[in-house]
Amino acid sequence: MDTTTNRSDLDVLLNKMKSAVSPLRKTLNDLYTKYRAVNDGEVATYIPELAKADPNWFAISIVSIDGQVVEVGDHQQLFSMQSVSKPFVFGLALEDHGREEVLTKVSVEPTGEAFNSIVLDEKSNRPFNPLVNAGAIATADLVEGRDYSERMSRLLGMFSRYMGHPVYVDNAVFLSERTTGHRNRAIAHLMLNFGMVRDRIEESLELYFQQCSVLTNCHDLAVMGATLANGGVNPFTGERALKAEYVKDLLSVMLSCGMYDYAGEWAFRVGIPAKSGVSGGIVAVVPGKFGIGIFSPRLDDRGNSVRGVQVCQSLSQQFGLHVFESGFTGRTLGEEFVRK
Ligand code: GLU
Repeated sequence: MDTTTNRSDLDVLLNKMKSAVSPLRKTLNDLYTKYRAVNDGEVATYIPELAKADPNWFAISIVSIDGQVVEVGDHQQLFSMQSVSKPFVFGLALEDHGREEVLTKVSVEPTGEAFNSIVLDEKSNRPFNPLVNAGAIATADLVEGRDYSERMSRLLGMFSRYMGHPVYVDNAVFLSERTTGHRNRAIAHLMLNFGMVRDRIEESLELYFQQCSVLTNCHDLAVMGATLANGGVNPFTGERALKAEYVKDLLSVMLSCGMYDYAGEWAFRVGIPAKSGVSGGIVAVVPGKFGIGIFSPRLDDRGNSVRGVQVCQSLSQQFGLHVFESGFTGRTLGEEFVRK
């Protein structure tokens, strides 16, 4: 075997790969350096487990629909998904019941109210959308299965298809969520009163607390985003995580409701579907191109990661990622990143 030829072929290939991804790596390194210096915001403290987060943790991951990965910082650091889980469970509910039936139990209207407000739509008695707690609890109620354990295993199976590996729940976070979740119980009882959830609220609340406690990391969030960007198919495993027909439903609610009561300004300034959680994660999707994961536990007063919002805003402006950008192509970033 002529190893010399093979070696030089390999070098050419490696150089090609390097030149294809290096501008993006440089961009991420620059963003990381710039925003690592931002120390505004506070780590969530409503349960002791989240208060233990290191406020300096910071990671940015980008995964393309053809499986290229560029990431920087603490991208392997585990944390609980919290509200980032909500659109994905909405997807499972859509698969179980279809769009019209799900819409009888949860609306898709943005709300200027806080994510945990105890308020339903006055006319229909539905929770406003699946990404506030009320809507997420109603959505968890729609996850089917013979019993709690089957519902739970379907929930975890769904997350593992998005992430491409088995998933685990942080039990300490789960127990704290359950012990302190009185407000969520009140919301569930209100929805039971109006027939928005079935009379199994303790079980559905358990599912909701479990989904908030699923462990993830920044890399996984980018893979989940890439799966949605790729029409519901995980780019690494080739496994379908969500039926293609529902991908646009998740992306629509993420764009209009995904960033707590900053959602309107997010759609205006950043303009890509995204969901944040109080542990500091953000998953964002550039449809047909790539998924973005960001992790930094310092939160602003709306509950969004301070650095996460700033990084997404920079990426969107720098590379024209806004979905309504005229002549949208995901221009420079897309060209550098997706080698086609
Ligand atoms: N587990 C939280 C709650 O139900 C959700 C937090 C979040 O918005 O990320 O209050």
